[in-house]
Amino acid sequence: MPAFWTEADYDDHELVQLVRDSRSGLTAIIALHSTHLGPGAGGTRFWHYAEPAAAMRDVLRLSRGMSFKNAMAGLPMGGGKAVILADAARTKTPAMLAAFGDAVQALGGRYVTAEDVGISEADMVAISQRTSFVSGLPVEGGGDAAGGDPGPFTALGIYHGIKAAVRHKLGKDSLADVHVAVQGTGSVGGGLARLLARDGAKLTLADIHADRAAMLAGELGGTAVASDAIMDTACDVFSPNALGAILDDAGIARLDCAIVAGGANNQLARAHHGAILAERGILYAPDYVINAGGIISVTLEYLARRDGAPSDVDAVKTRIAQIPGRLEQIWQESDASGVSPDQVADRMAQKLIGR
Ligand code: NAD
Repeated sequence: MPAFWTEADYDDHELVQLVRDSRSGLTAIIALHSTHLGPGAGGTRFWHYAEPAAAMRDVLRLSRGMSFKNAMAGLPMGGGKAVILADAARTKTPAMLAAFGDAVQALGGRYVTAEDVGISEADMVAISQRTSFVSGLPVEGGGDAAGGDPGPFTALGIYHGIKAAVRHKLGKDSLADVHVAVQGTGSVGGGLARLLARDGAKLTLADIHADRAAMLAGELGGTAVASDAIMDTACDVFSPNALGAILDDAGIARLDCAIVAGGANNQLARAHHGAILAERGILYAPDYVINAGGIISVTLEYLARRDGAPSDVDAVKTRIAQIPGRLEQIWQESDASGVSPDQVADRMAQKLIGR
């Protein structure tokens, strides 16, 4: 049986822990990639994997991604992630969440968890009954406060990032009449479209829930297209806000844009696809740099709660406003060295985490 640390995705992770609780039926893996900058922070995914090895690969890859994302966001946090291995029926019980919370608590703060795919805000509240090492909890009063739903903050960071990309690539200081094709009009893509519309951008929107894109296009004065047509749209900016791994050979060949900048995680199907984008003259905003607004919000909310301080939305917005500066630094280094922006970002992140 091959050991997990011989997996291609194993990258000197500091800790990989299997959590089994036979009473509740919980099986989970918690992975800490790096705690060089602080406790490993990253969400918990609840997912039905075809085989356990797929869960291991996912948690190794995702926790490494969180080290990079948190470092590049300037947060005092390392990278961690957890996956709960759901059965085919995706059975999720209070006892499982409690056992998972106990496992997080037992790590004594080395891992701080949050929401991810398959885990709701209500689940986070349940987990927080057993551990204080939780971020992304609902904020009292809701509205314009740090913490809670990270989607709007992620959208805000991407909006700033798109403005920076348009300035860098197209030499324009305004988004007026800049054509942005938005793939996915959920929490992030929908929020982004609203911010872009305010600046007079021309919008083409698509979602597999076609009515969602059509309604938003109607409201914002944009055009809705079928979800399988959005990657062929001739535009200035293609903004992926739905799925990962869309930038593969076939996907990149379809693009008719100057810039790719969006919130989806793991947009590049394989590492070399960043270089292919660069060869095509398309400016790429590395996903984990441009989509850090949400993690910035939930982390500052966590740190404030830990320190007994009030949540400070202005501090969150100030940090999110620093995303364009980081992107510009990456693009300038990429222009000067000929190394693609994704690789430049990876090297910067690795240096920050002392690797
Ligand atoms: P969401 O579920 O609210 O929205 C995703 C939308 O994409 C949905 O409306 C869905 O119908 C649509 N979609 C799915 N497949 C599609 C396809 N093939 N073509 C077009 N549309 C499709 O999710 P979200 O929170 O908006 O997250 C979007 C992406 O951003 C995800 O990849 C997520 O991992 C990433 N992300 C989100 C956050 C956050 O704060 N929510 C932070 C960082 C990264």
